[in-house]
Amino acid sequence: MFMADIARAIALPVELDFMAVSSYGTATKTSGVVRIVKDLDIDLTGRDVIIIEDIVDSGLTLNYLRKNLAARHPASLEVCALLLKEGMQKVEPDLRYVGFRLPDEFVVGYGLDVAERYRNLDDLRVFVGPESGH
Ligand code: 5GP
Repeated sequence: MFMADIARAIALPVELDFMAVSSYGTATKTSGVVRIVKDLDIDLTGRDVIIIEDIVDSGLTLNYLRKNLAARHPASLEVCALLLKEGMQKVEPDLRYVGFRLPDEFVVGYGLDVAERYRNLDDLRVFVGPESGH
């Protein structure tokens, strides 16, 4: 949903590609071990690349992605994150664009899920449940 909205807001000749990654961990916490479920189709060599990320929590997933994509020799590599959980990263994440900063709450909706549910909510909500840790 964020990708669709941001794509409509960019008035430049851009190409869009998708990558699906799955982070191992509990329902609401990542371990930093990332599996690429679907890789990009476009070759990034010499291109100006912006990673569009829904949410940065520990930053481990993004850290992995950034290294993985940087190794494909793009001309530039920047990150745009809709949501950044404040104070949750060991190292300050290098984000070119940030939508909103959040406290440590688990949020769902607007494409974000818990065990594949709630992605269809059209706004973001704090998830309170047994898996949330709250
Ligand atoms: P990180 O590696 O930064 O800890 O976690 C990044 C990934 O974990 C996100 O891309 C997202 O898939 C998931 N994630 C982290 N925090 C939340 C959250 O509050 N809600 C949901 N639904 N997913 C989250």
